[in-house]
Amino acid sequence: MAEIVVVFDFDKTIVDCDSDNWVVDELGFSVLFNRLHPTMPWNTLMDKMMMELHSHGKTIDDIVQVLQMIPIHPRIIPAIKAAHALGCDLRIVSDANTFFIETILEHLKIRECFSDISSNPSYINEDGRLQILPYHDFNKFPHGCTLCPPNMCKGEIIEKIQESLGEKKRLIYLGDGSGDYCPSLRLKEQDFVMPRKNFPVWELICKDPLLIKAEIHEWSNGEELERVSLRLINKICSGQNAEFISSNCKLHFMCTFSSD
Ligand SMILES: [Mg+2]
Ligand SMILES: [Zn+2]
Repeated sequence: MAEIVVVFDFDKTIVDCDSDNWVVDELGFSVLFNRLHPTMPWNTLMDKMMMELHSHGKTIDDIVQVLQMIPIHPRIIPAIKAAHALGCDLRIVSDANTFFIETILEHLKIRECFSDISSNPSYINEDGRLQILPYHDFNKFPHGCTLCPPNMCKGEIIEKIQESLGEKKRLIYLGDGSGDYCPSLRLKEQDFVMPRKNFPVWELICKDPLLIKAEIHEWSNGEELERVSLRLINKICSGQNAEFISSNCKLHFMCTFSSD
């Protein structure tokens, strides 16, 4: 029945940090990570880091323990549970990896709130180490999007979601990073984008808000994420035609940022 599809980015949107950095830092591998970072794409580097962790005796259990301690704003879980209870179809589109995301969501007991997770595939191989693969096989099938990293174009994923949905479904997209800009550009007039204020996607949107067809509603922390997303969901659910809200928001947004 879900008439509303809510698509969440994961890092710095659901959890309050970058899960890749969190694991590397907490297990004491930041120096190596920072040394290798300039030499290869992020996704390739994370797979390499998992190999390094394994060869230094760090186990899957060590990674799981660290993932279970990841910081999350206290209003995020209630927000997700409320949106799910209201009948929304919740999904995740993330450039982290499926193992990190599933482990965290299961620990937080909210895995069942999400109908789908699109992320870089990851699995425990026969040596007992985590392998992380790119979402798109960029050697065989490059996505060709110049905005996105080679391993994942979130805009392409959003288009697939749009194609699979009926006409009257409406999307709410929440994110913080530069990788969330491409999908924001693909949202339609009836959709909503919720960029995290003062984060890269917000800054990109601010440069030219008119490129965004969807209504723009910023948020800065878990409390605002909860308030803004539930207000949008309730607005759509109640079928109110709150045009004055939408035009005011967009105008306000544009005025705030046209000065610089
Ligand atoms: Mg993010
Ligand atoms: Zn893209």
